[in-house]
Amino acid sequence: MASIEFVNVTKEFEKKEIIKDLNLRIEDGKFTVLVGPSGCGKTTLLRMIAGIGPQTSGSVLLNGKDISNIAPGKRGVAMVFQNYAIYPTMSVRENIEFGLKNNKVNKIERKKLVESISEAVGLSEYLGRKPSTLSGGQRQRVALARAMVKQPSVFLMDEPLSNLDAKLRAQMRIDLIELHKKLGTTFVYVTHDQVEAMSMADTIVLMNQGLIQQEAPPEEIYHEPNNIFVAQFIGTPPMNIGELGVDGVRFGFRPESVTASTEPVESPFTLQGEVTTREMLGSETLYQIRYKETSFMIKSLIDKFSVNQKIHIGVNSDKLYFFADDGDRIHKD
Ligand code: ATP
Repeated sequence: MASIEFVNVTKEFEKKEIIKDLNLRIEDGKFTVLVGPSGCGKTTLLRMIAGIGPQTSGSVLLNGKDISNIAPGKRGVAMVFQNYAIYPTMSVRENIEFGLKNNKVNKIERKKLVESISEAVGLSEYLGRKPSTLSGGQRQRVALARAMVKQPSVFLMDEPLSNLDAKLRAQMRIDLIELHKKLGTTFVYVTHDQVEAMSMADTIVLMNQGLIQQEAPPEEIYHEPNNIFVAQFIGTPPMNIGELGVDGVRFGFRPESVTASTEPVESPFTLQGEVTTREMLGSETLYQIRYKETSFMIKSLIDKFSVNQKIHIGVNSDKLYFFADDGDRIHKD
């Protein structure tokens, strides 16, 4: 069991407030992803849970208990970093076993644990190897195994995949989802990559400038964004935002939520524009459309327009969003 709670937490660095009166509950056993632009305070929150960077005020609770005075090693949490610390002179087995030796676990137990965990992360056949003979992905698995062997009740991961190439990252995302399912442990994962957040999280906590913008499952974050920041942070290309010309209200629609044609389209919300760029991405094509003084991106499964063509775009009312002056979503009902 390991739920985590932040209660009215602030953090200052050099008198500057980096985390601003933050309240958050991270559920037991869930895969929670803290996501947001660089510098928004994600790592700062993770370090508070780990006990390596205390809050300035407020409290951090683990299973309802304030952990401020509990040493990092006694919290039952393990952290996997972006620059994973593995010892180059030790074999994979020795690297994984290292944490256990310090904890005075006996030899037979150690062997059993190392073997079951290596199997879980797909390292069984590499136990005798030195890290220098492994691929980046395999090394990342060693780092994971080193954390797992301590059998923590919370895994903290800080951009663990950012040193891997795109293909390996995609594979490791799937592996981490499976690992989480297998272990049933609380995962708190920090990334600035919205694709990682969308693909792995049970719950996304989207932050900006030390404040939580929205906390919700991926589908909800995507379809029901709280504000323009969320709407534009999640999704590639981001949601299109335009001026309605009334009282500062803005409208928004996602690039894929349109009906587009060279003929007029029937829709409660239509606009006419001109194709300015075309990007063929394989399974879909992206077009940039000039509309008055702004431009929008639209996505089509069929490559059907060319540059300079004039087209009509329609958006269904259930795919149309409205935002107030301050960026907050205006709900239709
Ligand atoms: P990234 O994705 O770039 O790692 P992040 O969201 O994890 O970003 P943090 O590392 O939590 O961001 O940093 C939040 C803010 O706090 C940044 O503006 C950073 O410069 C500042 N900060 C972090 N640690 C310190 C420190 N030890 N001293 C001063 N400022 C710090």
